[in-house]
Amino acid sequence: MSAQAHGIAAYAGNIALLTDGEKIVERLLRAGLMARASDIHLDPQEDCLRVRLRIDGQLEDFLELPPSVQTTVTGRLKVLASLDIAEKRAPQDGAFSWSLPAALSAGHSAIDVRIATLPVRHGERVTLRLLEKDAKRLTLDELGMSADDRLAFDAVLKRPHGLVLLTGPTGSGKTTTLYATIGELLRADEKKNILTVEDPVEYDIPGVAQAEVDSADKVNFSKALRSLLRHDPDVIMIGEIRDADSLDVAVKASLTGHLVLSTLHANSAKSSVTRLTGMGLDPALVPATLRLAVAQRLARRLCPCCRKRGETGFEPVGCPDCDNRGYRGRIGLFSLYSPDGGLETSMEKDAADKVRGGVTSFAEALKCCPSPETLSSCLVSLSEKTS
Ligand SMILES: [Zn+2]
Repeated sequence: MSAQAHGIAAYAGNIALLTDGEKIVERLLRAGLMARASDIHLDPQEDCLRVRLRIDGQLEDFLELPPSVQTTVTGRLKVLASLDIAEKRAPQDGAFSWSLPAALSAGHSAIDVRIATLPVRHGERVTLRLLEKDAKRLTLDELGMSADDRLAFDAVLKRPHGLVLLTGPTGSGKTTTLYATIGELLRADEKKNILTVEDPVEYDIPGVAQAEVDSADKVNFSKALRSLLRHDPDVIMIGEIRDADSLDVAVKASLTGHLVLSTLHANSAKSSVTRLTGMGLDPALVPATLRLAVAQRLARRLCPCCRKRGETGFEPVGCPDCDNRGYRGRIGLFSLYSPDGGLETSMEKDAADKVRGGVTSFAEALKCCPSPETLSSCLVSLSEKTS
């Protein structure tokens, strides 16, 4: 789909005519917000500065700026984030807050921007991650868990202790689910003492003590983790279990009466067990520690205004409502595994239900599911049931 087809295309044309770094940066951020982009990428090429937006997980071409504005645009971004303007040969990272003038905000007003630069062949590559400050946090109900998965998940949250893990690749929505879970725990009991250790803290959660650590600083990460238990928590959220230190604290906390929430890089819910034992967890402790592992992927939601029925469920079409993408927003696909409860649910089954219901397309489900064969057979058995 070309950028011309999108509602923000007129914007792209205007930005390409500007020469002032400050104005270009302001318009790029505004365009990012309008397009609901999670990231803006600036890639210096030999003959242009290529600008792309990541929208619903897909990287899309937005516009090409002349190479002559590269230095002024990068310079302006570095000033905003208090980075070293003169340093062009080393990667840098930082952050800044940015507000739209109220008259233009249209529901959006302020964002936190995380910036990273990287020297490449034709200049400096810049990635901007956009975090809307006052965006409405999703609740567990809005993530898309099936009724059965949700019941199992709720049952685990009601138990006072144990480890609950969210697994999936980067960008699969694990953090959103963690935040939604904490929101749910607070709704159930606002007096709960909830502590988090995060790298970095993405959003403020009122009523929760959030410790921010820098992953480059291993000492502080360990220290923060170890001090957690001295603050008499009911619930602990550790941004990620990524080494023996964080695993050790998570296990100790879960065995001593705390509910521990965290994320782990594992391919499936069940394989998180292998991952944990690989990191040094005694296999005998798995059933006592790990209450539930949840694997998660994000599939794009079909635009309800233009989707049409096809051979395998519904297919995307494209209309002004979805900027001609055929999709708008995303939904979680889940599978659950519990070593002590004998519970194991299938992501393919969850995906098949959502394809069948027209929430997402077969093509999107295929991208998310580990086994395309299982997905197809789930769909076949669903259609046999209904016909
Ligand atoms: Zn549409």
